[in-house]
Amino acid sequence: MAVRLLLLGAPGSGKGTQGPLLGHHYGVPHLSSGELLRRQVGAGTELGRRVATTLDRGELVPDEIILSVMDEALSSPSAVGGYVLDGFPRTLRQAERAEGLLERTGGLDAAVYLDLPDDVVRARLAGRADGRSDDVDDVVERRLAIFHAEAAPLLDHYRKRDLLVPVDASPPPGDVTRAVVAALTAHGTKADR
Ligand code: AMP
Repeated sequence: MAVRLLLLGAPGSGKGTQGPLLGHHYGVPHLSSGELLRRQVGAGTELGRRVATTLDRGELVPDEIILSVMDEALSSPSAVGGYVLDGFPRTLRQAERAEGLLERTGGLDAAVYLDLPDDVVRARLAGRADGRSDDVDDVVERRLAIFHAEAAPLLDHYRKRDLLVPVDASPPPGDVTRAVVAALTAHGTKADR
């Protein structure tokens, strides 16, 4: 059954872990905007070269770029049956600009907020060993600051539409996945009806 989810949460809140777990649970692809951009950088495409420095600094790439990357990902045949979006939309402006694009896919069923205190985020990112060039200390602080500035209006946006489903992201991954599925069922998200 089609389910269209958006994952929200600070860097390190577990979106990259929960995305694939939830995708597996619902049988839909996990579409991570950061991952799609890093793939372009890794492949050395023109787009990748344009965004590489921005990614290294932990700043947001221009809306036009991310909207076109996500438009392509959401238009792929694998996304017809639903998806777990991770990292996009990231700002209120992106959410507004993505509305048409998301409506075309059937519209979001829920925005899952992986809620985690900043100190836990810092500890988790300090211990993250995947060698990402944006996981060094000062960049972590910048990404956290950007997240807080952008998240509040975005959370409000989805709360007002009755799409926001907050979940405590501090337990181990499997427990968080179960909590998300239970919260989505309680929310009445279509996939679990
Ligand atoms: P993430 O893996 O979601 O933490 O994203 C890694 C990096 O990709 C971010 O720090 C941004 O530079 C870029 N990025 C990912 N998603 C977006 C987005 N929706 N808008 C702008 N930049 C993004």
